[in-house]
Amino acid sequence: MALTNLAYRDYEVLVPDMLKYVQYQLYGFKNYTRSLVFGTMPKRWFAETWVPLKTVRIYSNSSMKGSRVAPVALDFRDSVIKLRQVCKNESRYVVTIPMPEWVVERVKEGGDIKFAMIGLENDEPYLALVAERVVEPYQPSNYMLVIDVNAWNNGITWGLIRDGSIIRWKPERPRLSEIESLYNISVRLGRKYGRLKRLGLHKTVEGRRLWRNIKRVRRKIYAKLRDYAQKLVHRLVRKALRHKALVIIDDMIEESRRELIEERIPRGLRKVYLAETRRFVKLLITQLEWYGVPYEFKRLPSTICPICKHELTQEEGRVMVCNNCGFKAPRDKVPMHWAILYQCI
Ligand SMILES: [Zn+2]
Repeated sequence: MALTNLAYRDYEVLVPDMLKYVQYQLYGFKNYTRSLVFGTMPKRWFAETWVPLKTVRIYSNSSMKGSRVAPVALDFRDSVIKLRQVCKNESRYVVTIPMPEWVVERVKEGGDIKFAMIGLENDEPYLALVAERVVEPYQPSNYMLVIDVNAWNNGITWGLIRDGSIIRWKPERPRLSEIESLYNISVRLGRKYGRLKRLGLHKTVEGRRLWRNIKRVRRKIYAKLRDYAQKLVHRLVRKALRHKALVIIDDMIEESRRELIEERIPRGLRKVYLAETRRFVKLLITQLEWYGVPYEFKRLPSTICPICKHELTQEEGRVMVCNNCGFKAPRDKVPMHWAILYQCI
């Protein structure tokens, strides 16, 4: 990924031994030098690194963008993607795969797929297509969408603000009971595995099966959270677009981490609660930029009074109270009050 990133940003990246045909068609790679920069066997390098490849786009009216000889051809006439010579070093070797629906949609929205990346995901060859689009952000209306990112146990809270008043707000959480029961299963299996390990039996058939099970349960937890994060991003971006809102994001994930420690949540569960929250923020930004939604990062405290700036005290049920001016609000709603202050400036 680091390599791809560099190449994509117009740096020259040297690649170890690799098919001549592929070398010249790497996205943005200017020269090929037999290089020992990575010091690994080509096969292993290829397997562990994602390689950016040039694409040619052939649209339904037969117009074409990109290099005619690019190894990845996106043919919108037949809705197929053709990988030429990438999978086998024979000049006419082509692998045809169906065009994903989302690619057609992104192109309809004015996006372009200038390069694709090929690599291994879960030991399977995987072609990742990267869509990009240049858009000017719109002029925001009198709406503001505030997104306060916390660990999943408290959720990601959004608030819709119009002309200085909170119209709606809601903490969004995945189904925690489901996540926590999966976590408990993984802990139980982990203990069992630990016992086997102490007896030196973890490499036995039973031990290996147990280990595979642990990994499977963990993967399931992360897949569920990832899926939830993705859907939530989608909903929030739609919401912002509907109201032509300015989006304010507070991603105090570190603060959430501290809060989890204070609440004495076990380390493993802490990790689960925080999993995919960074990815959520990244995904959110990518999508906001894609649709030209203006956004800003702002610090929106939930423990300081938005009226008189005194420290707030937390009461039963995550209710925050100011002992100085009497301000009172649910903890997740306090950031919304801070956002209003910013809107007024
Ligand atoms: Zn106060």
